Amino acid sequence: MLTSSPPPPATTTYTPSISTPATDHIDTSASLQAYLAAPLPYAIDDWVKAACPSHGCTAEKRFYCAKCVCWVGVPAGVQVPRLRLPLEVNIIIADNRKKSTAIQVGVVATESVRVWDTWTGGLEELAAEPWEVDETLVLFPSQDAVTLNAMSFEELTVIKRVVVLDSRWNNTTTVLDHPGVRRLTKRVKLKNPPQESLCWRYHSKGEGLLSSAEALYYFFKDYEWLTHRRVKAVHSVTESSGQNEDGEVMLEEIMHIFRLNINVIKESYNKGARKNLPLPMEAAGKARIKAHRSKQRLEAVAKKSKREILQKEGGVHHGSKEAIEDT
Ligand SMILES: [Zn+2]
Repeated sequence: MLTSSPPPPATTTYTPSISTPATDHIDTSASLQAYLAAPLPYAIDDWVKAACPSHGCTAEKRFYCAKCVCWVGVPAGVQVPRLRLPLEVNIIIADNRKKSTAIQVGVVATESVRVWDTWTGGLEELAAEPWEVDETLVLFPSQDAVTLNAMSFEELTVIKRVVVLDSRWNNTTTVLDHPGVRRLTKRVKLKNPPQESLCWRYHSKGEGLLSSAEALYYFFKDYEWLTHRRVKAVHSVTESSGQNEDGEVMLEEIMHIFRLNINVIKESYNKGARKNLPLPMEAAGKARIKAHRSKQRLEAVAKKSKREILQKEGGVHHGSKEAIEDT
């Protein structure tokens, strides 16, 4: 078994290089964590809000526009990754675009990503695509899903695209049952998903669920290993983070916006009242947020019951909300 060289400690400057695709999830996970923890090769403070460059879009954004799936306001001299993935990625959006990590992958790899928005008839459009079932993978851990290494090399070589769902976890059945998606029967799952997501977004379905960007990262790690087809840089550039002479780029770069956001969160936690709190992407931080949300839910339930009791007793009118809230 090939193994990658151990990643450098997160506290030192990480020099990106083409890593050997790892078969071991601990190596893969460590490689991603080292990339995300490494200092950025530019000053993030130079990157301020700017107008989206897309025609007709009036949004002012920092880093990227989730609607137009493009970089926004890249500071002069900063080289952001622009990648070509070895497979076309099709993102089905059934959630808030601004919170979608799959959209962030789309920004980094515009040429390779198509977005199907369920709010604007995306599933119907997707259903009309003449996709061959054998050429299309759906990345979703359903019961019938297989890992990539359970597929033959011949099967893998005909694959042209992968479909990923970016939806709230309680929304997935609706999307998977749509005829446009249901016909795509080649379902795949990750060989060695990490136990913990690095994503800080809270969800109530429990631990161990990955964000879409992480799922794509681990999927392509498996795919690279099995097919030797790598991520490439779109433009030939002389100085780019993680690019070697052949134009290959380290896969970790698909998480570049994830990394930017981690830096923003770290900066905000380093200041003011949250200075001593654990970061939301750390286990202790997630536990703190979970406890806080539970408390909020309990308080909301208690408040509702109290209001109902008071209304039944006829002791208050609608205007007495303050009285309830004060209790
Ligand atoms: Zn825009």
